Amino acid sequence: MKDTLRELLRAIPPMERFLETPWAEEASLGLGRDSIKSIVSDVIGEYRNALRKGEGTVLSVEDLEAEMRRRCLEKCAPSLRPVVNATGVVVHTNLGRSCLHDEAIEALTAVARSYSTLEYNLDGGKRGHRDSHVEWLLCQLTGADAALVVNNNAAAVLLCLAALAKDREVVVSRGELVEIGGSFRIPDIMAFSGAKMREVGTTNRTHFRDYAEAVSEATRMLLKVHPSNYRIVGFSAEVGREELATLAREKKLVFLEDLGSGVLVDLSPFGLSGEPTVRHCIAEGVDLVTFSGDKLLGGPQIGAVVGRKQLVDELRRYPLARALRVDKMTLAALEATLRLYLTDRWREIPSLAMLCVDGDILRERAECLAARLGEAIPAASCRVLSVEDAVGGGAFPARGIDGFAVAVSLPGWSAAALQARLRLCVYPVVANVQNELVCLHLRTLSGEDEECLLAAFREITGGGEP
Ligand SMILES: *Cc1c(COP(=O)(O)O)cnc(C)c1O
Repeated sequence: MKDTLRELLRAIPPMERFLETPWAEEASLGLGRDSIKSIVSDVIGEYRNALRKGEGTVLSVEDLEAEMRRRCLEKCAPSLRPVVNATGVVVHTNLGRSCLHDEAIEALTAVARSYSTLEYNLDGGKRGHRDSHVEWLLCQLTGADAALVVNNNAAAVLLCLAALAKDREVVVSRGELVEIGGSFRIPDIMAFSGAKMREVGTTNRTHFRDYAEAVSEATRMLLKVHPSNYRIVGFSAEVGREELATLAREKKLVFLEDLGSGVLVDLSPFGLSGEPTVRHCIAEGVDLVTFSGDKLLGGPQIGAVVGRKQLVDELRRYPLARALRVDKMTLAALEATLRLYLTDRWREIPSLAMLCVDGDILRERAECLAARLGEAIPAASCRVLSVEDAVGGGAFPARGIDGFAVAVSLPGWSAAALQARLRLCVYPVVANVQNELVCLHLRTLSGEDEECLLAAFREITGGGEP
């Protein structure tokens, strides 16, 4: 027994034997020689350990080499890659939320390539502050008198709580103690900030008197949170902003609202009602509103805080603000995106264009894609289906939006197998399965994506391997 183990271990060739192979030489062009060494030594090490523990099967030199090659190839491809989003979920957090407008992409590329006025005032040749590039724009678009930008909305909420309410009480309705995306939970952020949470009301109903009775000497803030990803319906009650604003003013408290998505324009003409604009919240008397940049705004990942100047100045001075600041590329993309709103060109922003597109156009595009797929891949059976798309990102959770999809099946492929194979294409496709059919939702597909889809299906049917 011992002898066979010793023999098996001795049969593993030395590392150099693998490093001299043509595939290792080639992979080292992309990954560097040290990385190849570490991959080779990992595979050998894992195999040795498995043998010593008596686990796994005996591998040939070819098996070991195949595993090393597979790992090298995997590492040669970029890890963060573009994909086709065929799910119909517009603000898809796992797929990167927003696609930027071309002007935003140009702006960020330009500052990435060169030095910039990031914190520099050309007028006096003196130091400036990085928020200055977007503050005026945010104020114009929301009616606020000051604005600050940090890494994301979670950071914006954290900064407000820590800078303004550390060791003080923050009154919040039990109906608004939400968790968003599994990692953002109001009670956790509150605890981390050092503010003390004072819950009032019940899950489904909170009244004005609940807030009023909770306010004491220790209170510093009233917090309202947009219950982004769910709705309490039926026997429910919440207190309006204007009433809370009055209470805050009377008791000298800060009224903060975490708006989540934060739309800058009213989307109700497009059948998307019920999401208040940032301007609306400011007009109703909220002191500070926080929202995300990459949800319904359609820009880069940021968190904005807009509202009263004195409070925003306090946030800016707080040391945590420095740790949460955004980089120049983000600011460039944000500035360019906001400028599109100034001139009423926001419908051109990809996420907003996807949300506002007319149903008839989606149907026509679906019919056209079905016909093209049917022609390019004769074995495929394609038909157009009415489907439910989603805004995503926690906005408008109460309902989906009507959309159209091309449902595809290929002989010899189960829907689940086809769905999985689409993810492995040169240009990966992420799609849903519904009623045993792979559904390609048109809403989230660009014209270029449709070409990638055709290529993906050619790759699958041409390459065989079901
Ligand atoms: C999405 C969301 C957040 C988190 O925003 P990020 O920009 O993802 O950090 C916080 N609060 C609410 C209400 C949200 O909808």
